[in-house]
Amino acid sequence: MPPFSSANGLGNVLNLKLRSPVPSMERHYDVAIIGGGIIGTALLYTLSRYTNVKRILLVEKENGVAQVTSSSRNNSQTLHVGDIETNYTPEKINTVKQASSMLTSYVEKVAGPRKTRIMSRCSKMLIGVGEEETEFLEKRYSEKFMETFPDLVKVDRKDIARLEPNVVKGRNKDESLTGVYSKSGHMVAFDQLAKSFVDEAIKRPSCKIDVLFGNTVGHIDGKNSEYYIYTGEKFYTANSIAVCAGSHSLRFAKSLGYGKDLSILAVAGNFYSTPKVVNSKVYTVQKGNIPFLGVHADPDINRHGRSRFGPTITLYPYLEKEDPSTFIDYLKSVSIDAHLIGSLWKISKNKELMDTFSRNISYTMPGGIARFVKYEVQKIIPSLSPKSVIQDRTARGIRAQPIDKKRRQIVVGEVELKKDGSVFNISPSPGASSCLKTATENAEYLCDYLGMRFDKDLMNKELGNKRTY
Ligand SMILES: Cc1cc2nc3c(=O)[nH]c(=O)nc-3n(C[C@H](O)[C@H](O)[C@H](O)COP(=O)(O)OP(=O)(O)OC[C@H]3O[C@@H](n4cnc5c(N)ncnc54)[C@H](O)[C@@H]3O)c2cc1C
Repeated sequence: MPPFSSANGLGNVLNLKLRSPVPSMERHYDVAIIGGGIIGTALLYTLSRYTNVKRILLVEKENGVAQVTSSSRNNSQTLHVGDIETNYTPEKINTVKQASSMLTSYVEKVAGPRKTRIMSRCSKMLIGVGEEETEFLEKRYSEKFMETFPDLVKVDRKDIARLEPNVVKGRNKDESLTGVYSKSGHMVAFDQLAKSFVDEAIKRPSCKIDVLFGNTVGHIDGKNSEYYIYTGEKFYTANSIAVCAGSHSLRFAKSLGYGKDLSILAVAGNFYSTPKVVNSKVYTVQKGNIPFLGVHADPDINRHGRSRFGPTITLYPYLEKEDPSTFIDYLKSVSIDAHLIGSLWKISKNKELMDTFSRNISYTMPGGIARFVKYEVQKIIPSLSPKSVIQDRTARGIRAQPIDKKRRQIVVGEVELKKDGSVFNISPSPGASSCLKTATENAEYLCDYLGMRFDKDLMNKELGNKRTY
């Protein structure tokens, strides 16, 4: 069967069968993208739309795009802009705000009639419970902060009762409760967005795009200024590669001799479904040096009339949750050595992080749902009982949390390794919200390496990126 290709206009899951192991120009590409999650598909779109790259290959092991972490079953479906995420630094807020505006511009200007399936308005609230959190919010949400987000307003118990009655119902009257609220949040089906990126990309007649589903890249070799991408017994060649394989990316980087100072923690997130108890996304305070947001309550983009609580923060020995076959690749990614042990030792001194990990591990043990409801759910919705809470066992998202082994610390934010015409992306949360920014940075680097053109003006015009390039 021919590949899913812009040249033949087919729009389905198809595999390329090679008759000969010898690569010809037919199987040679300017850029090969490994991984069809939100990052790989955003890059495919960006290269096809804003560059003069002529031949692009995208290889994905699943039978469609965004089936792993970018699937809306597996992440929190939130467009992060930095207003209610209490563990973001001012620098991170700036970056995320700008990056997410590229995504909203894409959906508004490019996605066409599909846009309502990709993104919908969803108000959001951050609550501080108890005196310590109330004080924390008071300090964080200064006048200057509120100016950065003009739609954000402070809310007190009375406002919260009006906007989110279940947050107040059944709560101890003496417990202080405060928060901030914005009516202009968004929830995003990142899998629908990924589909839209591919559909928009293959519309470009000037660019030959082959998308291979159901093809697992076993390994990649670099020789004679070319990359050889092996899927089983077949192989493809490319002048440059972009590895957008989520938690698997670091393994590929290491096999090519890059990223030696990096390791990852595979942090899974469980979600729980309940009857509808919230109107908005309701977030809680995450303090301290913890790169993961605390459990929050959300309307579920896939299941109207239900609410969703999560994600939990559980360490896993696999690159994909519930997939023990990824254990060996996980070992290759973490590369155990004295630096890693030193890093883990230092990280284990972060008491808040360790407490969070151990509390979250207890949710996976017998009686875990009752504990989850007591410590996480009832902090948001005091009247919700364990009987109404069901764990979604199909959720399989992993945050690949990078560790800098030299500095012995967790790296907050995305990691992009770029060398010799290859890019490797590791994108923990909020990587999906920042996908177009990451794609732009990848595309600029690849064009520079290939001697091709990146049309910044057109990109700025369409995606409204205010960055001064
Ligand atoms: C619990 C949780 C909640 C989150 N919530 C949010 C949120 O609300 N908002 C937000 O912005 N971000 C959120 N994130 C982060 C966001 O989901 C990720 O940053 C993003 O999905 C990463 O996209 P990706 O394309 O890098 O990875 P993935 O979506 O995992 O895609 C990688 C792809 O590579 C493929 N692949 C891997 N190995 C191979 C191989 N050998 N050969 C071929 N293909 C391969 C995989 O099948 C997969 O399709 C959350 C993450 C988690 C885990």
